[in-house]
Amino acid sequence: MNNNLKSVRKAHIAHIDINAFYASCEQLRHPEYRGKPVIVGEGKRAVVSAASYEARKYGIHSAMPYFQAKKLCPDGIYLKVDMKYYLAVSARVFDIFESFTYAVEKIGADEAFLDLAPAESIFGGPREIAQKIKSKIKQDIGLDCTIGIANSKSVAKIASTQAKPANKAGGKLFVETDGSGILVVEPDQTEEFLRSLPVKALWGVGKATQAKLANFGIYQVSTLLDYPKSAILKALGNKVGQNILDLASGIDSRDVDFHQKKEKSIGKERTLREDTRDLEILKTYLKEQSANISQTLKKHHEKAKTITLVLRMEDLLRYTRSKTLDFPTYSRFELFDQARDLLIDFLGKDRRKVRLIGISTSNFIPENQAFANQTLFDAGDKKKEKFDKLDKILNQM
Ligand SMILES: [Mg+2]
Repeated sequence: MNNNLKSVRKAHIAHIDINAFYASCEQLRHPEYRGKPVIVGEGKRAVVSAASYEARKYGIHSAMPYFQAKKLCPDGIYLKVDMKYYLAVSARVFDIFESFTYAVEKIGADEAFLDLAPAESIFGGPREIAQKIKSKIKQDIGLDCTIGIANSKSVAKIASTQAKPANKAGGKLFVETDGSGILVVEPDQTEEFLRSLPVKALWGVGKATQAKLANFGIYQVSTLLDYPKSAILKALGNKVGQNILDLASGIDSRDVDFHQKKEKSIGKERTLREDTRDLEILKTYLKEQSANISQTLKKHHEKAKTITLVLRMEDLLRYTRSKTLDFPTYSRFELFDQARDLLIDFLGKDRRKVRLIGISTSNFIPENQAFANQTLFDAGDKKKEKFDKLDKILNQM
């Protein structure tokens, strides 16, 4: 095998991708659509955004013009994109990811890289963890996914694509799999795996590069790897050429990047001096954080609709529990109340000690708009009036 891969670790990076995500979401909430060709994308763009596997049998695929899809399958179920709903389902999927490992890198609404190494002591080996994640997504939400596992992101991504259900019309599959939807490519299998693929299956090799390689009669990764390196570098340029050769050899040192900028949110979190389940201690932190966040929100003249409790447990796994309020708030009392309720609820079902606790707020609405909404819909809410009064008094102190 390639010397460059000699000292690498076992496969531990997973790429997880939900099957036909938008179409599957529609089949989730409309059981009557299950087993039928569902095509999502009707609207201004007039191209297919997603097609269920039943629709793909007719040759329909994403990015296909709508009129063409309708010709291929006139009796299909054609639906508009409902992004709000898909994102709500996506949030549930990511909650499951994050209950297995804190190292989650979001690639899209239905796609992520997970570093499984931190989870191995708790949930078993990578394949076992993948099976658990897969069945949890199926059981709790009802979606199917495929999981590719390798010791690099690019190979994991290719593996999850190759693990998709057989799809003759799409013609994207080049490797025989066991049909489990999970494909593990260990370091010592990587070269053979990559060699079995066409170059277009490599992640990041676009049409232009494919065309240039085709000039040399290179369609397969194996041909590419056996070709004189200098000729490849000359044809594609040093940077692109080296990049392609690295991808073809499975060399990709990028880590799962889970320290990404999240969506806009304001929050506070704190690692505890000692792991604990003591509610009084935990509440002290929440109180301080609520006050802190409340001040920041007021400074920004914004109220938050969503309050999220953030926990990292003694085994380092991270959890979030959110609540979206009917009316946005920046009251420290309301923030505290909601976070405390989420905490009590969580600890009621979990026996571990807490290592880190925090509150995050998101889904902001400008203060003046929030006020208009509130007076319109919320005139009788005594509790909120009380909070606002208390806040006013405290702010004057
Ligand atoms: Mg997908």
